[in-house]
Amino acid sequence: MDLEQKRFTMIDEGFVCAVCGASVEKLGKTARDHCPHCLCSLHLDINPGDRSADCGGVLRPIGVVNAKKGLQIEYKCEKCGNVKRNITAPDDDYDMICQVSANK
Ligand SMILES: [Zn+2]
Ligand SMILES: [Zn+2]
Repeated sequence: MDLEQKRFTMIDEGFVCAVCGASVEKLGKTARDHCPHCLCSLHLDINPGDRSADCGGVLRPIGVVNAKKGLQIEYKCEKCGNVKRNITAPDDDYDMICQVSANK
């Protein structure tokens, strides 16, 4: 398969969390897609990091999934109800992850 066709953009950038107001630094290795403090994210991506969803709703963590790749946070969009998963980042607040996983 042609590598060019497989390419998709990962935008790694710092942002100010729309939910808790923390300023979040970019992650470096992979796209920062959620706030490490409150774990919330925004519905901006269709594929990870592509910023091509036009919803913009707040993705609230609803659960934690133990996947092969590692822990994933399951989100539900407050606006459109879409359910998405993001892989956890190394500096995610561990207490928050525990809280979310106990929510289910
Ligand atoms: Zn936050
Ligand atoms: Zn949405």
